[in-house]
Order: sequence, then structure tokens, then C-alpha cells
Amino acid sequence: MKTFPIFLSLRGRPALVVGDGHMAAAKVRLLRDAGARVTRITNRDDPRVEPHQDDASRVLDRPFRTADVTAYALIYSATGDALEDARVAAAARAANVPVNAVDRPALSTFITPAIVDRDPITIAISSGGTAPVLARQLRLKLETDLPRRLGRLAAFAGSFRAAVKNAIADFGARRALWDDIFSGPIGEAVLRGDETSARERMISLINRSVTPPRGIVHVVGAGPGDPELLTLKALQALQRADVVFYDRLVSADVMDFARRDAERVFVGKTPGNPTMPQEEINALLARRAQAGERVVRLKGGDPFIFGRGGEEVAHLRARGIEVVVVPGITAAAGCAAAAQIPLTQRDHATAVTFVTGHAQNGEPDLDWRALASFGQTLAIYMGIAQAEVIAARLIDAGRDPATPVSVVENGTTDQQRVVSGTLRGLARLVSGNNITSPALLIIGAVTLAAADADRPVEALQAAV
Ligand code: SAH
Repeated sequence: MKTFPIFLSLRGRPALVVGDGHMAAAKVRLLRDAGARVTRITNRDDPRVEPHQDDASRVLDRPFRTADVTAYALIYSATGDALEDARVAAAARAANVPVNAVDRPALSTFITPAIVDRDPITIAISSGGTAPVLARQLRLKLETDLPRRLGRLAAFAGSFRAAVKNAIADFGARRALWDDIFSGPIGEAVLRGDETSARERMISLINRSVTPPRGIVHVVGAGPGDPELLTLKALQALQRADVVFYDRLVSADVMDFARRDAERVFVGKTPGNPTMPQEEINALLARRAQAGERVVRLKGGDPFIFGRGGEEVAHLRARGIEVVVVPGITAAAGCAAAAQIPLTQRDHATAVTFVTGHAQNGEPDLDWRALASFGQTLAIYMGIAQAEVIAARLIDAGRDPATPVSVVENGTTDQQRVVSGTLRGLARLVSGNNITSPALLIIGAVTLAAADADRPVEALQAAV
């Protein structure tokens, strides 16, 4: 963060604008919108005769003096003159008064963000001075995306805040209620402009809502790594969570989407450290939900594919706890898409099998004959440690040693690597390229598409 974002209350407080041009006038308007008592120093030596129309701000027709700064909570210098702006900025800095010299970031101690104003909702966007045009584009996007009556909705909620607080003592229950209000029919009614019916519904809701909070667990798939591959449902669950239990494969970028005040509990495996036993995780999830909290259990990929999500759901349901499962993009689908390997394709593969290469005792316990059969793609999870055994068993069971393979490491992330070869050379492909976890093995003719994306499909088929 290059600058520290805060919303400063200037209501009734003195602010100074130095300068006389339209930039200065714009800053006067901005400060007045925020309720500041604005003084403008015009910096002119020759006092004008005509009176200023500028009613709400005080205008001093004289040059800026160093001693001026001490009386103000905030200063803009918009003189249009580099030396003069520097003089104002230096005086303000010396007195520790926040100062912005318009269009001179090097002189300024604060910047004015791009602002989306849906009063009382205010959105401020900054690029830390690096790309103001990008910040303005984002502003435009928000301006067009956000409902026009968003400010009304906030004001509407504000008018019921005290009543809701009186009716519902529990903080979590109150938050859940507000969530329902904003994303349900009441919020829609306000945004439509129908505040009368929204008000009626709101009153009956408050009268009914003296029920205790009910906990819930969302078992959520976080996708394969790229945070933009989260589902909207995952995002909503994360933003409403009281507590998030997450695994090693859940990236920090994904965790950034969790509600800021949500508690974050790591329950994954780290090499060399003791892992929290599954029973303990199950018990924790249940306990927190029974205490009325909104729990998110966040797992890499899809929770029901090699993720023990099924065990957790069964444990919770057996205790009568409400559970919602949110699917995620599983590693095979994510890695295949990112590497542009179609998992099935006419003429190459009519089936795809998700396999775990994890070995309980020594070697993966799999039906090699079934896996070796022609015309299917194998997507092997947790397979790199056993790459040599997997290749040997598949070849023994009849799979062609020349079958193309690809290995996708850190699929969908910035660190993604894809290496390709043949089944016969799989172990060397993995060790020779120092492939580390997480990595997915994809075995089958379809991987040719990635290995040689430029070759036309006919040539590809001929090679099979
Ligand atoms: N539930 C998860 C899988 C958990 S098992 C899912 O649906 O994707 C963990 C294995 O998934 C890893 O060993 C690796 O084989 C695979 N995997 C997960 N994320 C991956 C990624 N970004 N790139 C490659 N493989 C990944």
C-alpha cells in the first residue's frame, strides 16, 4: 500500500485552499461537499474590487503566508505555480498538516482519490499515484455498475439501525439479518424506488426476528489457485463468514476475499509439521456452527474430489447442523483449461478418469487394467511422488509406452509450468524438470494438443 486509505471527517472543521483558478474552485467544492469550513487564499497582491460570489467560503485576497497553515485541518495548494505550491507544501509539512499540491504528488502528503459518490456510500480509488487514468476507468466502471439508488439503500438501512439493534441483541444474528435485507426483496424494493413497501416489510421483519442465530457451515471449493476462478457463491460465503478453516492449497489471494474481520484458521498439512487430524477438524467445524457462527470450510479445487469434503459433511449432518456445499473448479478441469488440454475430444478420448496417485502403504492401490484401457484420459492427482510406479504399472497393464503425457505444476497460477513427454519417460519428465507439488499428471492422446498447439488437428490424429 503506497498510501493509507481513510475517510476523514471534515464536518465543521477549517480547511484551506490556496489558489485562484478553476482547480482551486473544484477543491473548494469538494471540501464544501464534505462539510468543511473552507478558506481560500487567492494569492493575489492586487485585491479585486468586485465581491466574491463564493458565499460559503471565506476568501482572503492576499498572498499565502507560512503562518497560515497552523489554523487548518487540511490544505490544498492549487496555485498553478510550482515554486509557490512548494512553498505552501513545505509550510504545511513543517506544521504536520496534511497537504495536497494539485498534480504534484512529490510535494503532497495525501492524494485525492477518484471518488464514486452515492452519499452516504463513498468509494475512493487510488493507484498510489502510479496510474491515475486506470483509477478513473475503475471509477467509471463502478459508476455504471452500481445501482443509482445505492445511497438511498444505505440511508434506509441507517434509519432502521437502532430499531434492529434493539430487537436483536446478538451481533452475528444482526449481521445475518442485514445480509438478507440487502440481498433480498427489501433491498430490491429500495433500489427500485419503492420505499413504502420496503419500510412495511422491514417493520414486520424486525417484529419477527427475535429468534436466536443459527449456525451454518459452507463447505466451499476454492478452485485450483487463480482467485478469479472462485464461484460467486464461494465469494458470498467468504464475505459473510465469521470463521474460515482453510487448507494449504488455498492461495493467499483467495483468502483475501474473506470478510476482513473473519477469523482465519489454517488446518492444512505443512511438510514437517504435525497435521490436524480429520476428527479434530470435524469437531471444530461442528462446535463453531453450534455456537451460532457462519463457518466456511474452504478447500482447494472441489471439496468432493480427493478432499475429504464428504466426511466433513457427513459428520455435520449427523449432528443436525445445516450444511451447504459450494462446488469448485477441480484441479483437473482448471489445469486442463489453463494448459489448453481438452480432457475429452472426439477421436482421442471418450472418457476421463480422475485418479489419486496417493499411496497409503508403498504403492497406489489401483485397478491398473481398467486405467490402461485405450480411449480415456487419466487425470492423476497427488501423483508426482509415484510417477515411476504409475507409468510402469500402466505399461505392464497394456497402455502404450508412447502415450503422450503432460504434467501441470501450479496450474492456473502465475507460477504455472507445463511439461510434456511420453508415458515411458514420465518419471524423468517429473524429476528432470524438478516438478514439485501441487502438480497434476494428464495421460492420454489429448495432451498432444498442449505439447504441440500449432499442429493442426489432422496431424495430431495421425500421430496417435
Ligand atoms: N480437492 C482438490 C484436490 C485435492 S488433492 C481438487 O478438487 O482439485 C491435491 C492434489 O490436487 C495435488 O496433489 C495436485 O495433484 C492437485 N492440484 C491441486 N491444485 C493444483 C494446481 N493448481 N496445479 C496442479 N495440480 C493441482
